[in-house]
Amino acid sequence: MIGLIPFGYYMCITLIQGRKKYYIPTLLGLVVLICFICCRMISMFWGSIFPLHVSKFTELCIYIFNSICNFGFLFLGTLLFITDMLAKNNQLVSQNIALDNMASIDPLTGLFNRRSMQDYFDAVMKTEEAFCLVMCDIDNFKKVNDTYGHDFGDVVLKEISRIIQDQVRGHGQVCRWGGEEILILSQEKLDRTCEIAERIRASVSEHVFTLHETSIHCSLTLGVASHRPGNTIEDTITHSDRRLYYGKQNGKNRVVSPFDAP
Ligand code: GH3
Ligand code: MG
Ligand code: MG
Repeated sequence: MIGLIPFGYYMCITLIQGRKKYYIPTLLGLVVLICFICCRMISMFWGSIFPLHVSKFTELCIYIFNSICNFGFLFLGTLLFITDMLAKNNQLVSQNIALDNMASIDPLTGLFNRRSMQDYFDAVMKTEEAFCLVMCDIDNFKKVNDTYGHDFGDVVLKEISRIIQDQVRGHGQVCRWGGEEILILSQEKLDRTCEIAERIRASVSEHVFTLHETSIHCSLTLGVASHRPGNTIEDTITHSDRRLYYGKQNGKNRVVSPFDAP
């Protein structure tokens, strides 16, 4: 009976949904304790309750068997508790990872969202190492949506995000800044960042976007800004945005660096 006490708690925690009725196994435990003490007292003052009339050796064997059962139940009960606790803990860890991903990743493109990019900005600002920002915007995207439908627009956005992600991998981070604007945080120097930006532009303009037997070409305009010490991240975003605007005004499908526009 003593060995069964942990099972009472285990069943109470795992089986009874909603409000946990801990008082049930606690009460049962108390009843077991009172019974145990009463039996002991009775056998002490009035002799055995159920006299066995067996040899001392058999009595010892029964006592050992009883103890083994008792310890066995205690071990099993504890093991059950621990394995269940570890399984629940693992479940919580994976749920936390999934929640974290949901909060930081844009579901359509699979890129980081704007909120999670802030962590990378903070980290890179602390290191005092050179970095650049590249603001990308799909050219005439409204026309793509209007002509081929929103689903086709989504395909284009997803494919372009993948192309950018592939080119930037190992050189920085990419996020969906908003709508069809993608921001690259490049941890390379300006000339190297311009090379990466140019590779992205060329890859996008060469790519054929296809959905339901319709194929089109799209292009991307990119504004590059090198972060200057003393500036805020917002200043650098404004510079890259201004160059992007310059690119839109001057023919689109181009990379605008500080060498092209102030
Ligand atoms: P520009 O070359 O000057 O950039 O012209 P544009 O037509 O691309 O103009 P703009 O950048 O303002 O277009 C934004 C459009 O992007 C409007 C909106 O419908 C579309 N858009 C934003 N987010 C999404 C999305 O998640 N999916 C789709 N399909 N379209 C989106
Ligand atoms: Mg836009
Ligand atoms: Mg656009």
